Amino acid sequence: MLFDKYGRPFQKLRYVVNDECNYNCVFCHFEGQSRRQGRYLTAEDYGFVTSVFKSLGVADFKITGGEPLLRGDIDLIVANIAKTGAYVTLTTNGYLLRKWVRKLQAAGLKRANVSIHTTDPEKYSKITGVPPSAFREVLRGLTEARDVGISLKLNAVVLRGINTDRESVKNLVKLAASLGAALQFIELMPSGWGASVFNELYEPIETLVNIIFELGGRPAGVRKELHNRPLYNIAGVTIELIKNFSNPTFCSGCTTMRLTSDGKLKTCIYADSSVDLMPYIKSRDVEGLLYAVRTALARREPRFKLYSSS
Ligand code: SAM
Repeated sequence: MLFDKYGRPFQKLRYVVNDECNYNCVFCHFEGQSRRQGRYLTAEDYGFVTSVFKSLGVADFKITGGEPLLRGDIDLIVANIAKTGAYVTLTTNGYLLRKWVRKLQAAGLKRANVSIHTTDPEKYSKITGVPPSAFREVLRGLTEARDVGISLKLNAVVLRGINTDRESVKNLVKLAASLGAALQFIELMPSGWGASVFNELYEPIETLVNIIFELGGRPAGVRKELHNRPLYNIAGVTIELIKNFSNPTFCSGCTTMRLTSDGKLKTCIYADSSVDLMPYIKSRDVEGLLYAVRTALARREPRFKLYSSS
């Protein structure tokens, strides 16, 4: 396993497989990449690059986008990653989940994270830029995924005035319970369009901690291997809280890098610099790739650091 100079192991990788999306979420961070990257990695490229990352001790791969289910070969991408023995999950807005769910399961997908920030179709429409009817389609996809046995997690970005009241949280917990899903609340990041709406929509996650307690939730540990995320439990539903803004504890537990859709390894969503892996991937140059990955790792810096005088 590789470690950066802050002693953080490199264990997880996010594959941003495209930059196109069928939604227009008002807060989207675009995974830290600008839109319209041009050339994408192929499904075969993902198989190759995963085997190299696996040899370095990276075992957990998350597919994201853009909207990954817009890629016609998404099942092949999943299959090629899973074939290496890696743990592969995918984040989606869920609109196309119904179409893909059986193929993804057959390809070896372990879990789908579905972004569903509210259970109110009107609010859903307002923040995602799609008609309220899209919400129903996402629910159908979620139900189908549950029925075929894909493990589910609901992603909700914490948005002031949208999902930060008791009723909204309760309804999301209820939805998660009905699907046998986990639920994670993610603090809004001031990146991409998230920066333009930050003043209006940012709400610290502590607001939700209070509501979770009021709803009968209790602490259920910490995910040390991933950002030191605190866990809670309400009536069998596991809730993860992702406090990513201005939180050195979050950054000290960061074990992740991102590979952009045009093959650049980014050390942090906020980092401007990246290392271009595309030439090494396309030429199947294992030695070159290993060197480039170590170069990126050496550049890894926590976005939020804990300064101490001692
Ligand atoms: N299109 C897919 C989706 O909507 O889930 C995948 C891409 S999206 C960029 C990946 C995840 O990042 C989603 O859960 C989304 O809600 C979350 N996200 C987007 N912008 C964010 C922001 N500014 N702060 C925190 N999370 C954000």
